[in-house]
Amino acid sequence: MEDLFSSVNIDADIDVNSLSEDDAKVKIDSLRKEIEHHTYLYYAQDKPEISDGAYDSLMRSLRKLEDAFPQFQDANSPTMRVGGYVGEAFAPVQHQVKMYSLDNAMDLNELDDWMKKVEDEFGEFVPLMCELKIDGSSIALTYENGQLVRAATRGDGTTGEDVTANMRTVRDVPLKLRAENLEGTIELRGEVYMPKQSFETLNEAAVAEGNQKFANPRNAAAGSIRQKDPTITKNRDLATFIYAIADVEPVSSEVQSQESLLNWLKSSGFHVNPDVKLCTNRDEVKQFCKDAIEKRDKLPYEIDGVVVKVNDFNKQNLMGFTSRAPKWAIAFKFPPEEKATLLKDITVQVGRTGVLTPVAELEPVSLAGTIVSRATLHNLDEVRRKDVRIGDTVIVHKAGDIIPEVVGPIMSARPDDAKIWEMPTTCPSCGSEVVKDPDGVAIRCVSAECPKQIHERFVHWVSRKALDIDGMGTEIISGLIESGLVHDVADIYKLTEGEIASLSRGRQNVEGEDIRVGHTIAGKLITAIEDSKKQSFARVLHGLGIRNVGENAAELLVQHYPVFEELEKASTDDLSKIEGIGPIMAENIHSFFKNVQNLDLIHRLQTAGLCFDDRERISEAQSGDQPLAGNTYVLTGTLVESGLSRDEAGAKLKALGAKVSSSVSSKTTAVIAGEAAGSKLTKAQELGIQILTEQDFLNLIK
Ligand code: NAD
Repeated sequence: MEDLFSSVNIDADIDVNSLSEDDAKVKIDSLRKEIEHHTYLYYAQDKPEISDGAYDSLMRSLRKLEDAFPQFQDANSPTMRVGGYVGEAFAPVQHQVKMYSLDNAMDLNELDDWMKKVEDEFGEFVPLMCELKIDGSSIALTYENGQLVRAATRGDGTTGEDVTANMRTVRDVPLKLRAENLEGTIELRGEVYMPKQSFETLNEAAVAEGNQKFANPRNAAAGSIRQKDPTITKNRDLATFIYAIADVEPVSSEVQSQESLLNWLKSSGFHVNPDVKLCTNRDEVKQFCKDAIEKRDKLPYEIDGVVVKVNDFNKQNLMGFTSRAPKWAIAFKFPPEEKATLLKDITVQVGRTGVLTPVAELEPVSLAGTIVSRATLHNLDEVRRKDVRIGDTVIVHKAGDIIPEVVGPIMSARPDDAKIWEMPTTCPSCGSEVVKDPDGVAIRCVSAECPKQIHERFVHWVSRKALDIDGMGTEIISGLIESGLVHDVADIYKLTEGEIASLSRGRQNVEGEDIRVGHTIAGKLITAIEDSKKQSFARVLHGLGIRNVGENAAELLVQHYPVFEELEKASTDDLSKIEGIGPIMAENIHSFFKNVQNLDLIHRLQTAGLCFDDRERISEAQSGDQPLAGNTYVLTGTLVESGLSRDEAGAKLKALGAKVSSSVSSKTTAVIAGEAAGSKLTKAQELGIQILTEQDFLNLIK
């Protein structure tokens, strides 16, 4: 098993040519067993142990082996069947028309290959419908004479589970079709899903009640429709997107293509995903897929790819099905955000406040579109809690811009010699003693002279959210520190253009001479340093790097103490009275300003002309228009149209004088409900509080 995981998951590519027939048979058998185990956990238990990406790579390896060794083909292989499970808790439903899975294209090249195949089939490009691939659970809804009579899961594709009572509680499922005079039976199919926010609320409640969390919204949705008690399903805030019909016959006069089907579904009262595009060439399809990757994180529900379908139903019929999927459709799967790889080593990074952070050194993997070779392990407690050891095959996760992190080891792949990692007892940068925070998990180097900490303090000071000194990268910072030109950030303001220009860049030209920074860059840097003096006191405070004081806390502090001399005098008690400043942060701030060295640094920064007084900035902001003063708003759901995060939307309201609260009460002026708004919306409805749509909100802030 260990060998299997390391060869399958690390490169997701099995070298079939080097395998003997016997070895191939062993691998095929163990892969089938492994896949079936995970299929059961995923579909029957809703508790996957491995990521979809890892599962898909197991499947691909099996398919590759079966293609190379056709003598071992088997109709019961997971590659030949619709994955799924029919439990005993529900009455079985025989699907009159089989429910299929989809074949996958793992990248744009594979998608292109499939599109070329379709083109070859018809001798020309045929219009393709692109839809988002909703990451939920398949559902079939049967209507008789316009009334909902049955809802069934996909099960194994032939037999599903009767979940009618549960699906009746899902608010957007029409119990009666809007279409008039629709006689006979009609079966519509789609996806039932749980919005991201409802998933988070559900898991928060699970933690509070000591229950197990769901692994992801898909599993939460699948688990919620397979509840014995429909009132549980009702409270789970599920929703649907419907996109298919089992047999088009009853509506064939109106519906002859995927495009007309989606229109018909909409007019019949179903929730149809609006993000679709009928594409007339291959580039348009690929662009739709790229756009979907971009918007993925902003959507209020999970998607795991794009489904591309031949639009014309006659052409679909000509292409037909394999035993598990239609030939006329393909799922373009997003680059996985999780993958398994080898943990080669654990190194330690020293941050600006001296915290030692363990970093996983990984066998490079391509993840969410980038190559990842390092990932944070946060701290020693995390390393122990996750039980990751050097030599393990670990799952690495990366979403959007988020720093990659190690999720945990694959236990079944652990080699006998996997090494337990120990945190060093001295600082890897300066060799000084390290100590554990009495109030937390961090282990720190406490030396004030630690070169790595000094370097990181400069990096923080010049960063975009602090003093924003454009062009002062780590190379120049290292040069400045090594040449002795700067000892702390106040020294930056004494630098001359000549001093910067003559700095070595730490590299040599072909003649073996040091490459210098030069006057062009130095001149720009001097201007950027001068400009940084115009930054606010809040940014200076953030730049000082007081422990736990980030950008938001710095702004809160100057709102209460706009002048440094007042802030300096504030006691721990005074500071912790500020909403948003906890007792530990208050203590850190207080002791920072009691330290003589820190006060000396501040004095020199003041002399250099940096800003330690935000009175003017704050009163200017306050004297601006405050039309929303006295109003309190609560934001819920996702603001799709504007793409604003809730923090950004809140900042806009605050700038107009409003208060923004995180909970709904009788004092709330209105609740702004974006897409997939959850319990806050329900509470507002119960209390009779005004509800604003995203459009109302945009009008309000205009
Ligand atoms: P799939 O999820 O890859 O694709 C088929 C399904 O996509 C359809 O049945 C349908 O329900 C859904 N779908 C969503 N939007 C759609 C749209 N607009 N049009 C058409 N269909 C749409 O295939 P599957 O067979 O349901 O599941 C296999 C996948 O499940 C694997 O690729 C893997 O990612 C995951 N899985 C993971 C584990 C695990 O242990 N992590 C185990 C089993 C399966």
